[in-house]
Amino acid sequence: SWKKIDVDKRSRDEIYEMEKTFNEMIDHLKDNFEKQEIFVSDASHELKTPISIVKSYAQLLERRGTGNPSLVKESIEAIDSEADRMSKLVEQMLSLAKNKESAVMKKVDIADLVEETVTTFRGAYSREIQFDQVQRKLLVNGSRDQLEQVIYILIDNALKYSNEKIEVRLEANNNQAVFSVRDYGAGIPAQELDRIFERFYRVDKARSRDTGGTGLGLAIAKAIVKEHQGKIAVISEMKEGSTFTVSLPIVYSA
Ligand code: ADP
Repeated sequence: SWKKIDVDKRSRDEIYEMEKTFNEMIDHLKDNFEKQEIFVSDASHELKTPISIVKSYAQLLERRGTGNPSLVKESIEAIDSEADRMSKLVEQMLSLAKNKESAVMKKVDIADLVEETVTTFRGAYSREIQFDQVQRKLLVNGSRDQLEQVIYILIDNALKYSNEKIEVRLEANNNQAVFSVRDYGAGIPAQELDRIFERFYRVDKARSRDTGGTGLGLAIAKAIVKEHQGKIAVISEMKEGSTFTVSLPIVYSA
């Protein structure tokens, strides 16, 4: 009867749909698994350099350290700074892993947070940080710690990758809190603009390393902004500088 044919067709369609969903699930899992594998392999690679530097200074100290105070001093300083580097790497890798679990979201005054972070940087560096506070109070929904991390990463990068003054702004635009950091540094090549948000990606490895970079800052910032339903973007011009912009939905402004 026509009814039977109809039922058969329906179950065939259902099986087809199920198969499609199942295949999509598998692809998704595979994709995640591959990403995890790449992350673990990149992370091991990044840790290997400081470990081998520490190891070679330890051996140097053992062989030639006795009665050689300048070598002892140099080695200890190197070991100390490589240990700092490893601990920063581990801390940032943990931070990336933690961002996956959703943080507790509260109303956060981002105007206050930006002002506080700028003050901290002004105290720590003798660099000009221009900041015009347009907004007195600007509430967004989020984690204070994580948002502070984003602000910190962008200001830190602007200072690291330029020598001139930097400009920090916070304004309200179309129900979005728009935070931006502008620098007058070397700029980022157009073809690398997307890639800098990838884990461990660095335009200039040596420069990043010299300034204590890990290549994880922007990946962390991007993950946090995404978690906050926001957007992060960059525009850059070689030899002119870069502007990083983060926009987040406003809950309340004054
Ligand atoms: P890093 O720890 O190396 O600074 P990030 O993830 O924060 O890692 O940034 C990735 C790379 O993007 C940097 O190594 C640098 O090459 C580039 N970059 C980031 N911010 C800037 C900037 N303001 N000006 C120029 N290059 C930048």
